[in-house]
Amino acid sequence: MKISRKSNVIEPSLTRDLFNRALKLGDVINLTLGDPDLPPPQSVRNAACDAVQKGKTRYSANAGLLELRQVIAESFTREYGLPCNPAEEVITTVGGMEALYLALSSSIDPGDEVIIFAPYYVNYVQMVRMNGGIPVIIETNESDGFAVDPRALESRLSDKTVAIIINTPCNPTGAMLPRPVLGEIARVARERDLLVISDEVYKSLVYDDGEHFSVLSFPGMRERTILVDSLSKKFAMTGWRLGWAVGPKELVAAMTKMQENVAACAPLPSQYAAIEALKGGTNIAYIRETFAKRRDLIFQKINECPRISALKPSATFYIFVNIRETGLKSLDFALKLLESQHVAVVPGVTYGKAYDEYVRIAFTHDIGVLSEACERIRRFVEAL
Ligand code: PLP
Repeated sequence: MKISRKSNVIEPSLTRDLFNRALKLGDVINLTLGDPDLPPPQSVRNAACDAVQKGKTRYSANAGLLELRQVIAESFTREYGLPCNPAEEVITTVGGMEALYLALSSSIDPGDEVIIFAPYYVNYVQMVRMNGGIPVIIETNESDGFAVDPRALESRLSDKTVAIIINTPCNPTGAMLPRPVLGEIARVARERDLLVISDEVYKSLVYDDGEHFSVLSFPGMRERTILVDSLSKKFAMTGWRLGWAVGPKELVAAMTKMQENVAACAPLPSQYAAIEALKGGTNIAYIRETFAKRRDLIFQKINECPRISALKPSATFYIFVNIRETGLKSLDFALKLLESQHVAVVPGVTYGKAYDEYVRIAFTHDIGVLSEACERIRRFVEAL
């Protein structure tokens, strides 16, 4: 049986590898997946159950229920101050991941280059490859707070560049792109006629007095940006697999055509739950405060451990831990930590080859479990 060349260039991620290894052990504290533990409010669960009970369980339009797209368009206009036509500029998808996939498959041809900043969400690289594109990786450094250097961006553009993916707030660093940097990215995108795929799935998890900025706030960007968002992180609803994209109508039409052939539509009960969640049925402030407390704890405890350190994440529920002084490479560190202390983390090399001296921790457990995890990590590094 033939297996496609394309599938052979896709590597299973170390995130899942470590997650799966952890499943086989008892008593593991699993800090691998970005899968928040807070249940959605009763009203949102009721909306999905009600849909199931009433038999609203069939296919919807490929782009999703118009009622949901209207709610998404309204929240888009509220958040970004920009107009949005729900019938033509919004598509709902099977999670933000499918929105990313459809955006890429509708905009790139084999050989086209897509700019990705590292450390990156690993699926960007894989999805670009799945669509025959070439990921062009631009690395950022901890010493600069993982800030993107716009000069580096210009130096990596070519006549094959068609798109830039930006992820702010960022998985895995928890950093946010400052407004001036976004302005420079916008300028480059306008001058070179590039699409910007702006993945903002973590935008509601911003801590302290931080402010989320979007590339969409710059002139001329509404018509060349596809915004990706989802219920997963904002409302702690990962398994509901409900995301969306807002963008120029030509691109949304192409994505909708692709959608017919990929998933047909997002799951209908989840679409009804999304209407309720987006209409205000979810307490985002409570979710944010819960993660802020966890962030404070884990930031303090990690930096109290010998030989490891981390910058304070301004957003998201990840902390990117520098393990250089342990002398271990990231996979080795993660495997030994799992074996000896039953704590699962993700090797930094997952997020780009320059990050083999980091591991990512997702603080998606309660304070008690996170304290115990940090204690085990401390025992592990002390024993090295
Ligand atoms: N974008 C980023 C940066 C992510 O970290 C994730 C999930 O981890 C997603 C998009 C997709 O999430 P979902 O498909 O659950 O909406």
